[in-house]
Amino acid sequence: MNRNRLFTHDRGPRKFWERALSFVMLTGENCFKVPVFGCQRCGECLLSHTAFICCQRCPKRLRNGPCGGTRDNGHCEVFPERFCVWYRIHRRARFLGRNTLLNSTERIHNWKLEKTSAWLNVFTRRIPPPTLFVKRRRHES
Ligand code: SF4
Ligand code: SF4
Repeated sequence: MNRNRLFTHDRGPRKFWERALSFVMLTGENCFKVPVFGCQRCGECLLSHTAFICCQRCPKRLRNGPCGGTRDNGHCEVFPERFCVWYRIHRRARFLGRNTLLNSTERIHNWKLEKTSAWLNVFTRRIPPPTLFVKRRRHES
């Protein structure tokens, strides 16, 4: 397996101007993504792969599926009063016809990108761009 696909050594924005730009862009992102998606500012946005539900709201911050402790009623093992984030992601992905995206392995989170602007990280090619459109399979429509 290509290890470069599993994680990145990128050290995030380091130059002063890039850090300043990241701060400004992150402020803009926060205005939209925090109230709408509950963004946790991971800097490596997966929203388009997780049916537009932020997987980082999982208390274990899992990026590649549930922990295995999801309760029979679909609730989280850590916060039993809430639905498991991944349970919600799978349900919505099926509804939107985007469940094929859940088959891809997401990279291990680079914590150096935490609290940086995901939009800037896309523009600077630190992270891949979002997948906006997915072809629906015939049996899913
Ligand atoms: S995946 Fe990361 S950047 Fe995207 S909404 Fe969730 S915490 Fe924010
Ligand atoms: S049950 Fe779901 S939301 Fe809760 S910790 Fe496990 S994967 Fe995360």
